[in-house]
Amino acid sequence: MSAQTATAVTNQTSTQTFQKPTTTQNFADIYQSSIENKEQFWAEQAKRIYWHKEPEQILDDSNLPFAQWFVGGETNLCYNCVDRHLEERAEQDAFIWLSSEINQELIETYPAVIDAFKDLGNNVEFYTDYTKRRLTYNDLYKEVNYFADVLKRHGIEKGDRVIIYMPMILEAAYAMLACARIGAVHSVVFGGFAAHNLAIRMDDAEAKMVITVDAGLRGGKVINYKSLVNQGIEQAAVKPEHVLVVNRGILPFEVKELDVDYATERRISCEANVIVEPVWLESNTPSYLLYTSGTTGTPKGVQRDTGGHAVALTTSMDYIYDGKAGETFWAISDIGWAVGHSYTIYAPLLAGMTSIIYEGLPHQPNPGIWWRIVEANKVNILFTAPTGVRMLKKQDETWMTRYDVSSVKSFFLAGEPLDESTASWLTKHLGVPILDHYWQTESGWPILSNTPRFNDKPHKQGSPGYPMYGYDAQVINEETGEPCKAGEKGLLAIRAPLPPGCLTTVWRNDKRFIDSYFSLADSNQYSTSDYAVVDEDGYFHILGRTDDVINVAGHRLGTQEIEEAISRHAEVAECAVVGIQDELKGELPIAFCVLKDYELVATTENRFRLEQQVIGAVVKSLGGIARPAAIYFPQALPKTRSGKILRRAIRALAENKPTGDMSTLDNPTAIDAVKQSMKDY
Ligand code: ATP
Ligand code: MG
Repeated sequence: MSAQTATAVTNQTSTQTFQKPTTTQNFADIYQSSIENKEQFWAEQAKRIYWHKEPEQILDDSNLPFAQWFVGGETNLCYNCVDRHLEERAEQDAFIWLSSEINQELIETYPAVIDAFKDLGNNVEFYTDYTKRRLTYNDLYKEVNYFADVLKRHGIEKGDRVIIYMPMILEAAYAMLACARIGAVHSVVFGGFAAHNLAIRMDDAEAKMVITVDAGLRGGKVINYKSLVNQGIEQAAVKPEHVLVVNRGILPFEVKELDVDYATERRISCEANVIVEPVWLESNTPSYLLYTSGTTGTPKGVQRDTGGHAVALTTSMDYIYDGKAGETFWAISDIGWAVGHSYTIYAPLLAGMTSIIYEGLPHQPNPGIWWRIVEANKVNILFTAPTGVRMLKKQDETWMTRYDVSSVKSFFLAGEPLDESTASWLTKHLGVPILDHYWQTESGWPILSNTPRFNDKPHKQGSPGYPMYGYDAQVINEETGEPCKAGEKGLLAIRAPLPPGCLTTVWRNDKRFIDSYFSLADSNQYSTSDYAVVDEDGYFHILGRTDDVINVAGHRLGTQEIEEAISRHAEVAECAVVGIQDELKGELPIAFCVLKDYELVATTENRFRLEQQVIGAVVKSLGGIARPAAIYFPQALPKTRSGKILRRAIRALAENKPTGDMSTLDNPTAIDAVKQSMKDY
């Protein structure tokens, strides 16, 4: 399709001008107005996106804790992400896809990969260490239209659920945006999940279609997606009507009855130059489901709306991330997680930015790969979880200094507590603020953050910041519901209505929404299930999950506080603290420390010294009550692919109990490492 067609399409609707709300450039004022004059505040923010029909009512809070935003308004996420930018930035990159998995060696092993690229589009550049595909907004417009046409031709309509089980490739982004374009509800299932997890989600969502690939790659290892989908379908009670397969030419597979080849179908749409008109959706129409990772309990289908989601993400790109149209944003996450949905796909596009999609590990082909990508693509804003950074911290520091990273203006971290030493390591090398911020799958965008765009609240190292506009967040006493004073520990809660963009309910289970999130004494308080404390200056500190708190002789201790104290030890790369049963004291903390250099504990003498130092560090910062009963030195800690330490599993190992569901575990050998460390003792 030519740029001409693209312009013609935009003209239909380009009468509306998009305004950036006028601000006083003072975050405290913005926050206050968002809480005191909610409707006025969000009515202003709503002007950031295109509405096919303006909302009739900004907020309907007549049925709290359920809230409806921008009632009666009609919009389309895909239109706002793609079509809207064609007039101004058709030739700007929307996505830059980089894969360090598709390298010279892989292509030699799987030559069909090259042909697959030809079948799926163009713009492929091969480098020695990675493969790159660039996609302008105009290219994206075309691809999303083809994809939407393929979906439609296979019976997908507004409201149908589509499971996307794909690695980090561009087609996954097209699939998400194409669903949004026609009003289908996507549910991306993380590629690391096995057939069983897939089946649970297929059944709960009653998915009409599954979109997948022949294979994915992780550290050179081939992951057989197609076969996992086949197994998932066998196990599922509700079978999809079609399985749309993007064949990457990696792994030959037997074509099944439900299978549809994407490249063949794409060609049909492409030759006909098909344009699929966006379906205008009432603001509260579900846009997607994302099942919680299930680090704890069984997965819940977090449901997001359409208009509120678009407004919230667009606003966050400005007020929180300070991202500007034309700049490059790289959220180093997987599209299977909320971060990947919000900040790899939707938000950068809503804001007219370029987003990087990376298929690969942080240390492959070498620990300089992130910084090489930053240099080559002039990345402006980075966002990842601390775990990736900790991995790099263990490597030779010079990897970082080889590249020009001066394009970076800020680096955000979330998902796990950010320890001081990881933050300082990164600051030292990047020379920019490392901004911790806090959010959940449920919120979809930050609840607490630092805001580099404003200067009335300077960034404070060691804190994920303060409540973001729209979140009436407080630390409350768990029993009485009363707000805690500065310095007093409590539960982090948010008063309903939750702002736009947050989950609106649990898919087809309003009761579970209430039971899981609104079961505190005050039924209008959302419980984050995290403990926190506010300091004298109003900065929040997360103390850990409510289920990670241990009770030592009647004293409640957050395992995270103990971990923070231990992480300050120069030789410790990362650690996990869990509580084990103790007849006398109820529970006792024990610590598992991964050292930067494992060989350090080869001698009993050294081990003893380290143990004493670690214990000393804890006692010094938290008092004798927090004294760990034992210190172990495993070579690794069990983690989920999103980088969360599976403390539940570690605790089970320490208590010699079964570890339970381990399907989210990323590094199975860590289980043995933990067991071994206790034997060594
Ligand atoms: P599940 O809800 O299925 O158990 P999960 O809670 O691990 O999964 P997410 O929604 O991705 O899945 O994670 C949100 C949680 O991560 C928060 O509730 C909090 O415990 C933790 N978290 C996120 N950001 C931070 C941060 N900056 N500092 C400390 N903890 C954080
Ligand atoms: Mg959670």
